[in-house]
Amino acid sequence: RLPSNLAPTHYNIELRPDIYNGEPPFPFDGSVEIFFTCREDTNQIVINSVGLVIEDGSMEFEPGEGTPSAPEITSYELDPDRDFLFIDLDGDLEVGQNFVLRMRFAGTLNTASLGAGAFWDSYHQDGETHYVVLSQMQANDARRAFPCFDEPAMKATFDLTMVRSADMTALGNGPLVNTEERSVDEFWVADTFDTTPYMSPYLVAFAVIDYPHVETVSENGHLIRVWARAELMPAAEYALSVAGPIMDWLEDYTGQEFPMAKIDHVASPGFSGAMENWGLVHYMESYLLYDEAWSPTYRKIYVASVIAHEVAHQWFGNLVTCEWWDETWLNEGFASAMDYMAL
Ligand SMILES: [Zn+2]
Repeated sequence: RLPSNLAPTHYNIELRPDIYNGEPPFPFDGSVEIFFTCREDTNQIVINSVGLVIEDGSMEFEPGEGTPSAPEITSYELDPDRDFLFIDLDGDLEVGQNFVLRMRFAGTLNTASLGAGAFWDSYHQDGETHYVVLSQMQANDARRAFPCFDEPAMKATFDLTMVRSADMTALGNGPLVNTEERSVDEFWVADTFDTTPYMSPYLVAFAVIDYPHVETVSENGHLIRVWARAELMPAAEYALSVAGPIMDWLEDYTGQEFPMAKIDHVASPGFSGAMENWGLVHYMESYLLYDEAWSPTYRKIYVASVIAHEVAHQWFGNLVTCEWWDETWLNEGFASAMDYMAL
């Protein structure tokens, strides 16, 4: 476990997965800016990082709001056994002071079968291989995508920017708020998504996809979109028809409105199971798609039940979260109960 002397408040994250040249393994690089408050004096910062190479000379440490100065970084070291990144300072951080830590890093996208952190997935259509990028952070794999305080109780808000090729679509937890070109040849485009609610790092999610989508608006005005590869789009209509009423029921039952302007449901060929990331739920295709022509009838109930379970987690797990993983059965228990009740 990380020491509890530092508490994150906000992250600015930028990631640029590069799936556009040749075959896997594919690289990615990015940057993170972590805002945190000191709760106990310390001369060392400890965060989680696995499989990432910190770019030489990219680490910067500055005082945050209301804090006059910050000590200098003297050295840093990765402890692969504990997934820790130790950053040593030449002076103390004092209780109540705020700081900002920045760094650039690079890594390799994992495979869909590993399904940890940022990973690539693929499918074949019209004789071509299409590559996409997905994420899976629960339980402790956010640290594979960006250095962070990767524990469920260490909640913060997150601003995510995904850099993609101009012909792909990027999704994040929040709705898209800005798009800008990132290269003179017009190849790279950066999409920035709205600040997330205050949440655990295991709920950060993204997708860089070439899927079409269908959309609707829920009774309370939330945009609901269902994304899948083009071939399977006819099977996305059913999910779209049930996702709205499920959301309406949960808002009504809990008395808490869904705090984001949109929720995306994304079906991918290599994804395992389903994951309730706040505002961006990932599914394996058979969990989200239903087509009368080729799905057995019982799948109709099953798909609705998986969607209800993942949408229920937006409240039970995402809004109210277990402090540590030994209590995660509560998330699952409530989400499973709500899924029956909502249907
Ligand atoms: Zn669950």
